[in-house]
Amino acid sequence: MEVSSRYVVTKAHIDGAPKESDFELKSESISLLLDSGSNDVIVKNLFVSIDPYQLNRMKSQSSSQIYSTFAAAINPGEAIDAYGVAKVLVSGNPEFQKDDLVVGLITWGDYSVIKPGGMLRKLDPMGFPLSHHVGILGFSGLTAYAGFFEVCKPKKGEKVFVSAASGSVGNLVGQYAKLFGCYVVGSAGSTEKVQILKEKLGFDDAFNYKEESDLKATLRRYFPDGIDIYFDNVGAEMQEAAIANMNVFGRVAVCGVISEYTDSGRKAAPDMIDIVYRRIKIQGFLASDFLNVYADFISTTCDHLRAGKRHTLEDISTGVESIPSSLIGLFSGHNIGKKIVQLAYSPIDIEV
Ligand code: NAP
Repeated sequence: MEVSSRYVVTKAHIDGAPKESDFELKSESISLLLDSGSNDVIVKNLFVSIDPYQLNRMKSQSSSQIYSTFAAAINPGEAIDAYGVAKVLVSGNPEFQKDDLVVGLITWGDYSVIKPGGMLRKLDPMGFPLSHHVGILGFSGLTAYAGFFEVCKPKKGEKVFVSAASGSVGNLVGQYAKLFGCYVVGSAGSTEKVQILKEKLGFDDAFNYKEESDLKATLRRYFPDGIDIYFDNVGAEMQEAAIANMNVFGRVAVCGVISEYTDSGRKAAPDMIDIVYRRIKIQGFLASDFLNVYADFISTTCDHLRAGKRHTLEDISTGVESIPSSLIGLFSGHNIGKKIVQLAYSPIDIEV
């Protein structure tokens, strides 16, 4: 038996803002009969993560492609791997059986063939929707948890600023920080997003950075007593403005610099004298450095969810054909919360 699988590829390297014409849908037939002795696992993809770092993989060059195996270069024309949840159809690997739910590196396509050594593990949904395991209980969640607790090393009552605060990582950082007992302000790119931060997620305050002409003055207004922790998702001018408003011994966790991904000429140039005399610590990090806190992250976050202390923001599109526009939308702020594409059409596939 064979299935027909559509998958997304890039046509060429993408060195600026991505557009629909940079992508195409290809199709292939996948045999569900494994050769004898094969250890492959063939899965039906159910939910796949859409993340900004994928754009850096599509560039002709980026240091991300060299220093992280997860962010290796994507060659035009080839299937694109991404984090996601899937269901096993056929397995030559004794660790997996038909109908097992799995999570790991699958592809931006209808089906994936996972070769031996691929990153895949069995998934126990623990009663949560499968989409949660791509976002709040997946890598976005680990990024927020490890970045905030391990990199920022917060103390109760500290003042925290989060950029791209209504996005996948940002909204989770803000919620961890509030539950921990910090004062939290977020920036986001629309009035609707600002409302969600303040009214739904319980941020102490929030502002639309697109309506502000002088970000240093804006942050002075929101933090008259200075910022202790800046969780940076965007880089460039926002990072400069946050550092100009940091307190002594402030910490900046550089999670990502999305405003620089589509424009190689755009860079943050913070005042280095501020950094020296205020003894500010700036640290880049990758979630994959913090697998040691994975168990803590899962148990804390599941407890929060079960106790109704956490909101889950998910922005789900449907179908392989919506993957390019979903990625493109990240760079113009179309998403609210975790951007996910659902690739299963039958409720039987995705019921927990
Ligand atoms: P996301 O925040 O859900 O989506 C991206 C958001 O960024 C958009 O919704 C948009 O919101 C904002 N944005 C886009 N272009 C911008 C610009 N030019 N200036 C300011 N804001 C802009 O994405 P995410 O997955 O949570 O990722 C957030 C950041 O974390 C990214 O930089 C990503 O690369 C990084 N990240 C790092 C790790 C790690 O291990 N270090 C892991 C995951 C993600 P607005 O409407 O607010 O503009």
